[in-house]
Amino acid sequence: MCIGIISVDKQNVSFSVKTKEELCRVPINKDCCALAELYGIFLYANIFDLKQIRIRTELASVAKRIIMLIEKVFNVHIQIQNIGQRLSIEINDNKLLEKIMTEFGYDTKPYISYPLNRNMVEQDCCAAAFLRGVFLISGSVASPDKKSHLEIKCSHIALCRQVISLMLDLGIEPKMLTRQNSGVIYLKGTAAIEDFLTCMGASLCAMEIMEAKVEKNLRNNINRQVNCETSNLVKTTDASAKQIAAIEKALLIGGIEIFPENLRETVDLRVANPASSLSELALMFDKPMTKSGLSHRLRKIMQISQRLEQKGKE
Ligand SMILES: [Zn+2]
Repeated sequence: MCIGIISVDKQNVSFSVKTKEELCRVPINKDCCALAELYGIFLYANIFDLKQIRIRTELASVAKRIIMLIEKVFNVHIQIQNIGQRLSIEINDNKLLEKIMTEFGYDTKPYISYPLNRNMVEQDCCAAAFLRGVFLISGSVASPDKKSHLEIKCSHIALCRQVISLMLDLGIEPKMLTRQNSGVIYLKGTAAIEDFLTCMGASLCAMEIMEAKVEKNLRNNINRQVNCETSNLVKTTDASAKQIAAIEKALLIGGIEIFPENLRETVDLRVANPASSLSELALMFDKPMTKSGLSHRLRKIMQISQRLEQKGKE
């Protein structure tokens, strides 16, 4: 089965950028969370192994946050490099690399794919910080006026599954798509996306999605109501036009006398108020009557008119 995935392309980039910029403003209050966020960033880096860590990003705010986190956690300053349109952060120092790996709970053996160390994300605050780091590097989200979609690209399926299990623990229910050895974690539905953005700390962007949804629902309701009212109006004027045409033909043939006295007020009111509905018309009588009473009288008038017309043809 083919699952439709909207690739979050250029037209959606602005909302992804907005979300990431909001995430970059989330204050880091605890050391445990600083370490966990950096862990998410490093695990999803372009290169993450004992020889080198290399992260590429197009956003200055993300690059600056990474530098700030490295300084806070490891007390070293790393330079940001410009590589064409992108910014690059590279760690090549063996001692520092070893220190980082040890801090994340890895031994100094090389891995093909580093598994998620759950000890690093045991507390909810740290799990949220870790996911923020992951999203800053690999995430994207469709703008609120588009079909709801959020995704995180992941180069290793095993890691993808481990991150999904972490998200499930936080009450977020993502889906996964695999492409060869890489995976995509994705969320559909505005509620799930709002929850995830709020969990990572982008509550303003979550609110924007919620407001867009409320506005869309409101617009749909108004349209439905207008359509319904229009169709009722068409029905009313259709019936009224038929009645008036029949009455006018009858009046031409025999004048008002052809209608019994008790129907004459109805004839007059109908002809004088072509756009009025039955309920409106019923209230216009000297002695207001019920809708069904009026409907009965109009049926009588139609019968008389039609009979007269039949006679004329014979
Ligand atoms: Zn924490």
